[in-house]
Amino acid sequence: MNLVFLGPPGAGKGTIAQKVMEKYSLPHISTGELFRKAISNGTPLGKEVESILAAGKLVTDDVTIEIVRQRLMESDTCDGFILDGFPRTIFQGEALLKLRPIDHVINFVLEEEEVVKRLSGRRIAKSSGRTYHLIYNPPQLEGIDDETGEPLVQRDDDKEEAILQRLKVYEQQTAPLIEFFRERSLLRDVDAKYSPDRVFKDVVRAIGLE
Ligand code: ADP
Ligand code: ADP
Repeated sequence: MNLVFLGPPGAGKGTIAQKVMEKYSLPHISTGELFRKAISNGTPLGKEVESILAAGKLVTDDVTIEIVRQRLMESDTCDGFILDGFPRTIFQGEALLKLRPIDHVINFVLEEEEVVKRLSGRRIAKSSGRTYHLIYNPPQLEGIDDETGEPLVQRDDDKEEAILQRLKVYEQQTAPLIEFFRERSLLRDVDAKYSPDRVFKDVVRAIGLE
């Protein structure tokens, strides 16, 4: 099953994608995570995109589409995948539909006030991208990853200025994809304000896996 998770930054897409991956063995492909890995590995791509991510702007369509095209050529995506954070522009949406057929686009619906709370409390383990929240999903030991023991960090783009910029970019460039996919009968709205377990169940129901 080929899935897209759409929604504002901080809506919980990555959290739910992780759960769907564990239960249904679909690879979770997060373009943001691919860029962050390239940055921490110091690759040419990482150098090219580092300041763009820090500023909360979008990487160019050409670069992003090429990363996704290459990732979708890997054999683990044969039986399906979850795209999280891609597409983010209409141009990327059109490119995706030329690359692979899509079964469902889950639209994570969450009001801005809650989005800001989720983003500003988010902490991550850098090596795995595992995500926590200071209040909603704290680690067992404060500031420490449950699995590896590494210190948790705040993403540069989860600081206030970049959050506001990312929300603006979402409204201007990404939200038009809601209508784009609705017109193609691919959109499934899910109310993202509930607990992760509840949202997971609603997503599973929306894609008919229940
Ligand atoms: P979040 O999980 O908060 O939505 P992501 O991890 O998906 O954030 O993305 C982090 C950053 O990576 C974005 O702000 C943007 O700079 C870049 N990025 C990720 N996906 C895309 C994309 N599809 N197109 C352009 N830039 C992207
Ligand atoms: P996205 O991938 O859409 O940017 P994340 O999955 O990284 O969002 O979640 C953003 C933050 O909100 C994280 O700190 C995460 O732990 C927390 N979070 C995710 N889902 C929920 C939820 N259903 N209720 C409360 N907090 C959540």
